[in-house]
Amino acid sequence: MTETVSVNAATKSYRKVHALTEFSCSLNEGETVALVGHNGAGKTTLIKLMLGLIRPDLGTVRVLGEDPAAGQFAARRRLGYLPENVSFNMALTGRETLSFYARLKRVSPDAVGPLLERVGLAGAADRRVGTYSKGMRQRLGLAQALLGRPRVLLLDEPTTGLDPALRRSFYEIVAELRADGATVLLSSHALTELEGKADRVVIVNRGTKIADGTIEELRQIAKLPTRIRVSLADCEAGRVDDWIGRTGAWKRVNGHMLEIDAGPGEKIGLLRSAASSDAPVTDLDVVPPTLDELYAHFLGAGEPPR
Ligand code: ATP
Repeated sequence: MTETVSVNAATKSYRKVHALTEFSCSLNEGETVALVGHNGAGKTTLIKLMLGLIRPDLGTVRVLGEDPAAGQFAARRRLGYLPENVSFNMALTGRETLSFYARLKRVSPDAVGPLLERVGLAGAADRRVGTYSKGMRQRLGLAQALLGRPRVLLLDEPTTGLDPALRRSFYEIVAELRADGATVLLSSHALTELEGKADRVVIVNRGTKIADGTIEELRQIAKLPTRIRVSLADCEAGRVDDWIGRTGAWKRVNGHMLEIDAGPGEKIGLLRSAASSDAPVTDLDVVPPTLDELYAHFLGAGEPPR
């Protein structure tokens, strides 16, 4: 795996606020990484360090082998950025806006039409941005970030304001970029939608990295229980009670469903008994800990966000 971004023990304070403390992480080619954390955790600060908009007080940041805060940051043209709050000149059309950014990035104007098409704005390309909905402006922001086929994309809360269909098409674009070898860093609060989309999750709390791994790795570290839910067969109540008595502390969800939280060592035994021929069970679901639950676990109880 080729490393595209490396942050090594970066510390950044704004007067008395410690936004990041000895933060290290590395991002690789063809990898989609979710950056999650509470409001004020330091996510935007980290992205600004990668963009070279601010310098670390201590530590180093390298993007495509260069220091982004150095005067000559040639790799800037291979970086795409979608800010948390996109703001455009409302008097320009979508096409004029994107053409303006294309000139800034020295990208051929021929790229503008296909990009507007790709983000679903072809039909509104010649309307003023002032008439766009929030979701349309967000898509124009994404088109701007995609100019010049960037190798590293830093997307700060990119799906805010997008409806479910647009979120889906956004993640399709992310999957294409990943397949093309780009590094995509997604900062987000929408944990549920990140499952299955991000290769890796980095959790930040109060400027410090508290977890970094695939969802599966985080599940293994957290050792949270897996929920097993079974649908009951039509049979006399006594048979169900008898089976519960023999197999474990199942809880009734309703008249025809039971569930149990299985610790890592109990899961296989419980699944075997639920699938055995004498079990009064017609169907079974296994629900591993969600990213929401993992996030809450790593954040730890009783630590109020700043
Ligand atoms: P959110 O999810 O709300 O966007 P975040 O994780 O992106 O939050 P940052 O914007 O990186 O958080 O902020 C980290 C901390 O640094 C916060 O306490 C914030 O108030 C502070 N901070 C950020 N920028 C500045 C600044 N320019 N001046 C002073 N403090 C700042």
